[in-house]
Amino acid sequence: MIFLDAAATTPVRREVIEAMWPYLTGEFGNASSHHTLGDSAAAALRQARETVAAVLGCLPGEIVFTAGGTEADNLAIKGIALARQAENPARRRLLISAVEHPAVLESARYLARFHGFTVDIVPVDRDGEVGVADFASRLGDDVALASVMYANNEIGTVQPLAALAAAARSASVPIHTDAVQAAGWLPLTVADLGVDALSLSGHKIGAPKGIGALYLRARIQAEPVLHGGGQERGSRSGTENVAFAVALATALRLAEAERATAAERVTALRDGFIAEVLDRIPGAQLTGHRTRRLPSVASFCFPGTSGESVLLELERRSVLCSSGSACAAGSDDPSAVLTAIGIAGELAQTAVRFSFGTSVTEAMLKDAADAVVESVTELGRLQRS
Ligand code: PLP
Repeated sequence: MIFLDAAATTPVRREVIEAMWPYLTGEFGNASSHHTLGDSAAAALRQARETVAAVLGCLPGEIVFTAGGTEADNLAIKGIALARQAENPARRRLLISAVEHPAVLESARYLARFHGFTVDIVPVDRDGEVGVADFASRLGDDVALASVMYANNEIGTVQPLAALAAAARSASVPIHTDAVQAAGWLPLTVADLGVDALSLSGHKIGAPKGIGALYLRARIQAEPVLHGGGQERGSRSGTENVAFAVALATALRLAEAERATAAERVTALRDGFIAEVLDRIPGAQLTGHRTRRLPSVASFCFPGTSGESVLLELERRSVLCSSGSACAAGSDDPSAVLTAIGIAGELAQTAVRFSFGTSVTEAMLKDAADAVVESVTELGRLQRS
């Protein structure tokens, strides 16, 4: 099998399993317990928080562990917006980019439905980029929060985040970014990005599913989404998942150490793959920005096919990838991201996303490109006959 669906998930790294193992077995304590087992769990949790903070260049107290990227996004959007509204009820507008993951978009829609907010969707251009001037023109005293993802999960486009964050800062509007897909590929130093909140997910970088983290800048208030025993300094109640926090920290540390080399190598492979697909398949269209895109994502539309049938043909040839994003699996609606970049319904149904892990090789992508050419050609032949 050639697995080209790393944006959906990645296998857990051996080093990560080894690092988390003690906290699932002998050192199984509850980090809130006042005895030696509890102390050792609390120490591991503290260490994990310090490791994540070191990668982001922030204070350990600014990291909240969550049960994944979805929860981190929910906490950022709902938590910050509700706290800002409580301070000043006039802050009722949410600025949300048109290409956000459903975890952000649906959190904003929830706030509109039940808490009186309005959602101002910031459009993107044909490459999927938010315009800095347009974004800046929408900022104002009535904005509770802005959220623009760092890099898109379907088309890979990387946003001009530092410029967007600078505009938000001059308008005194907090800005959150979903960096779930950026981790391991792009720098995560929050001071350079200028963001107030940033979401991460473990399972995209070799940690298990069900662990994530939210960076929350020290002075930014966020109402908790989960209420209970007040763990994570009151930001996120629930017995701390020490083993998974250790796993996330280990995966993030390794990903950061390997990032520069991996990004350079995989970018070159990605560009070779894109060139080959576009050269050999007449009519194939790349989606997303040509260069300002994740090293790990090559996404296309293949007019005259359906994305789902391309997937089946590819799977017959041992290549696993995704049509659009795995998060929208099971839905027949055209992808909101593709719609936002101006790709109409029928063409949007022909979308296929190839996403690479750090272990992808030139040989794998050569075989995959052959399989894509054969699959799309075969489907074209069937359609004509
Ligand atoms: N945000 C983005 C951009 C994603 O790609 C994903 C996962 O697909 C998520 C958020 C959700 O993360 P999790 O699967 O950890 O809930």
